[in-house]
Amino acid sequence: MLPSDRDLLLDAAQRAIRYREALGARRVGPAPEAVAALKQFRVPLPEHGRDPREVIESLDRVAGPATVSMAGGRYFGFVNGSSLPVTVASNWLATGWDQNSALFAMSPAAAVIEEVALRWVLDALQLPLDAGGAFVTGATIANFTALAAARHKVFRETGWDVDNDGLFGAPPVTVVVGEEVHTTVRRVLGLLGLGRTRTVTLPVDGQGRIRADSLPRLSGPAIVCIQAGNVNTGAFDPAHEICHWAKAAGAWVHVDGAFGLWARAAPDRAALARGYELADSWATDAHKWLNVPYDCGIAMVRDASALAAAMSMTAAYLPQSGPREPMSYSPDGSRRARAVDVWAALAFLGRDGLAELVDRCCRHAAVFAAKLSASGVEVLNEVRLNQVLVAFGDADRTSRVIAAIQAAGVCWCGGTKWQGRDAMRISVSSWATTEDDVERSAASILEAAARA
Ligand SMILES: *Cc1c(COP(=O)(O)O)cnc(C)c1O
Repeated sequence: MLPSDRDLLLDAAQRAIRYREALGARRVGPAPEAVAALKQFRVPLPEHGRDPREVIESLDRVAGPATVSMAGGRYFGFVNGSSLPVTVASNWLATGWDQNSALFAMSPAAAVIEEVALRWVLDALQLPLDAGGAFVTGATIANFTALAAARHKVFRETGWDVDNDGLFGAPPVTVVVGEEVHTTVRRVLGLLGLGRTRTVTLPVDGQGRIRADSLPRLSGPAIVCIQAGNVNTGAFDPAHEICHWAKAAGAWVHVDGAFGLWARAAPDRAALARGYELADSWATDAHKWLNVPYDCGIAMVRDASALAAAMSMTAAYLPQSGPREPMSYSPDGSRRARAVDVWAALAFLGRDGLAELVDRCCRHAAVFAAKLSASGVEVLNEVRLNQVLVAFGDADRTSRVIAAIQAAGVCWCGGTKWQGRDAMRISVSSWATTEDDVERSAASILEAAARA
């Protein structure tokens, strides 16, 4: 490596470090001028290259101010986690290694770390330790991957080879979801040829939970999708009842547990996510509540052979025996060694640290709910997890308050729709959020509400 390359990498690292050190002081959403300045990027492809130091400098100078302080402690938008410092460090190291983690032969280190990280995640979430799994870009593709395994198995049981013969002329399969199914699950059902809207859709209660008293008679091949953690309310479907009902009919149960599944890692919250261990497959995110850098989701499938069958390729590509091949369980071919960050997070936190991270976010959410409702803000959900859903009167006023909160820049919360009503969501998903962050953010929210 040239000395100038060394300086370049150090310079980028120092810029990133300065960025993170300044997070506490900067506004959470970018200033409008910073967003407007992004127009500097809209130039044609340069004919000639330039000094790499300038390339990095311009990214830092122009793009940096137009980023959103997601890595800080006062960002509560969507359900977006932050990143633990140890995972940013592991990510940098793994990027330096530049490993293609598709095959053991390409990177023994990445392959073994992935195997261990998968086992640790299954252990932390109290799921079967011998489940198969894949580290993918996020919960969307984790849902896709796990549901591809479900599709393989369910059709296989009818005598149909869906992976080779496709869906043309295939026997029908019932796909069951709740009315509050995450929109990405519908998208994935479309990608799998199972149909976005061709579902049996079960009614939900006021928290978005599938109503256990509404389960219809289920017959024939079926896939049932439930969720651990509604994206708005944080509520859990009654997994225990649904799994018993589905199993009795021979159906496959898939869990979208993008963030809620992590409740199982915290003894004081685990009861919320009881029964999910009975399912056949699970999708979760590591870039949400585990607080690793983007992008990282995890698909887990009880019957590892069903996952391998759904992901299999022409036999010639892969060695037939030997160590676990990451690519045999994933829809991806070449990919980064993203399991390294999961390993680093869990090695750093340990079981108790992970439990404390999850529990702390839930405690912060409860404080938000208490402070806001004490000042007359309507809290729409039962706050048991990390999500707080509030409304400031009608749609118009709610949207004005949200705009004022975002403009103030102390914190960032986004709008959402909840059962026909405009609302605002506060998702506490960051390791970095402190009591002081909650205090300051709640004050800013109340100030915006008072002015609207
Ligand atoms: C975030 C989320 C998803 C999608 O996850 P990505 O990481 O954005 O792909 C799916 N389901 C639920 C419940 C989520 O919260």
